[in-house]
Amino acid sequence: MLRRVTGRTVERIERRGKHILMRLDGGLTLHTHLKMTGNLYAIPDRRLAPANARVILELDDDRAVIFEDSRALGRMEAVRSQSLDRLLGGELGPEPLSGEFTVESLWLASRRSKQPAKLFLMDQRRVAGLGNIYAAEALFRSRISPRKRMSGISRERIGSLHEAIVGVLNEALESACRAYAGPGEFSEAEDFPLAVYGREGEPCLECSQFIRRITQGGRSTYYCPACQR
Ligand SMILES: [Zn+2]
Repeated sequence: MLRRVTGRTVERIERRGKHILMRLDGGLTLHTHLKMTGNLYAIPDRRLAPANARVILELDDDRAVIFEDSRALGRMEAVRSQSLDRLLGGELGPEPLSGEFTVESLWLASRRSKQPAKLFLMDQRRVAGLGNIYAAEALFRSRISPRKRMSGISRERIGSLHEAIVGVLNEALESACRAYAGPGEFSEAEDFPLAVYGREGEPCLECSQFIRRITQGGRSTYYCPACQR
């Protein structure tokens, strides 16, 4: 990978879903997926690069791009832009904060799906970039059970779900921006208020019933059995 990217110019940086795309000249893209513990950032002086970085890309103005990944679950690779874009185009649905994600598009996609609501939301072909935490929080806000079959949810409730997804993501973004302290530095905790995620056995903030945890698609789902139907 390093041989392919050395000497190339970074033309722009884009994001699709959970994929970070650093567009280089010559039709190449440096493709990064952070997974659980990855972190990608630029530092003003390459001599200050952390010793435990997985990848250090030195720039010709003395800055450096750092890829840290303590559990080494993430991925960074140099690929032909054309084939990557074709691949992602087939894998990724609409960006939830873009104009292409509307109540209508969510409604139409839901009609064709027998998936339980939580798995539908985490399916990157349905909504790009939505992960486990925010899918659970959006379902709680719209009072939809994570087990509810998508095609059985009414138009009105799909409207609430759409509003909840956009609201949760915007608040999460604001909270991440507040927590950002500088290149590679985040204060310990973001202050996004989690109503259900990670709260198994604790009382629901709305009704005091205990939050329940179930497993769906190999991942934990947290929800309130009383509020969410
Ligand atoms: Zn509740």
